[in-house]
Amino acid sequence: MQPCIFCRIVERQSPAKFVYEDDLVVAFEDLHPQAPVHLLVVTRKHLPSLNEAKAEDEPLLGRLFTVAARLARERGLEAKGYRTVINSGAWAGQSVIHIHVHVMGGRVFRWPPG
Ligand code: AMP
Repeated sequence: MQPCIFCRIVERQSPAKFVYEDDLVVAFEDLHPQAPVHLLVVTRKHLPSLNEAKAEDEPLLGRLFTVAARLARERGLEAKGYRTVINSGAWAGQSVIHIHVHVMGGRVFRWPPG
């Protein structure tokens, strides 16, 4: 089986432009940014998607979002707004099977998303 790319990044075995890390999550720049700011907040623990999240993961999921908000605030995205996204499963377009929050900002986003 192919090793999970985000596990490799978390373990510093693959390169990434880190912008944050703590005991539960790390954040780095998306390799193919879809907005002027496009960061990924990723759990250190390998959780494939939101579908596998359990009650015991609530502190971890909470951290994902408070870090997302902190990074957005630090980049001055708060006033105009920004988007946080978790894709879960094939129809949502999840391409990396390791839970992560996209933090995107610096442009206007449409709704509903494609
Ligand atoms: P998703 O499609 O929601 O699973 O999002 C996966 C995201 O990971 C995409 O936006 C990719 O551009 C990004 N990505 C994939 N590989 C890497 C990598 N090695 N470093 C940084 N971002 C990556």
